[in-house]
Amino acid sequence: MTIMHHLDESTIVSFAAGSLPAAFAIVASGHIDHCACCRDKVARAQRLGGAILDSVEPVALSQGAANNLLERLEADDRKLKASKTSVQASAGADGDVIPAAVRRLLDVPFSDIRWKKAGRGISTCQIDLGEKAASKLFLMKIAAGSAVPEHGHTGHEVTLILSGAYNDQCGRFARWDVADLDPDVEHQPIVEDSADCICLVAVERPARFKGLLPRLFQPMVGI
Ligand SMILES: [Zn+2]
Repeated sequence: MTIMHHLDESTIVSFAAGSLPAAFAIVASGHIDHCACCRDKVARAQRLGGAILDSVEPVALSQGAANNLLERLEADDRKLKASKTSVQASAGADGDVIPAAVRRLLDVPFSDIRWKKAGRGISTCQIDLGEKAASKLFLMKIAAGSAVPEHGHTGHEVTLILSGAYNDQCGRFARWDVADLDPDVEHQPIVEDSADCICLVAVERPARFKGLLPRLFQPMVGI
């Protein structure tokens, strides 16, 4: 199996700096754990970040600024721990594979997930990251042969393919590929006929579907 689609450079740099929102850090780590190419890039970015910090002259911080920095460092540390959570794959009862970090967040075995049907062969399961999370994380299951309505994005969106495969304007996406999409990308994934496609998706803000029917359908999808 060859990974064909990788994380965007800006996502790699943010991941290396520990500044990705939680949902994106979880999706990115799911890909990085299976992609030597992106793992190398993260390591390079971390070395570069360390070198830049070493070259900066120290400056005195006011008490408020120091407290803010400490809070930020503690938050980064928590994010880093979340992103370093092992995402070693293991087969569920039905042979599907999801990252271990996601299984822990789900609190139920993969086979017991309560999928929320959204019509057109699409089901979703939102994963709770806490009320204050700025990003949303959810599993999406698209039935074999189904098409997701064409849509653009009002914010950053990263999708990790866990099983099955789909094709869109950017090519074919199969297990451990990521679609790391900027807001200006509009696409219409069509799942291959051989199997359902299960993805792990991180979004900043709701996706923006085109056309009246897809817009009516959007609240049902819940993204
Ligand atoms: Zn990669």
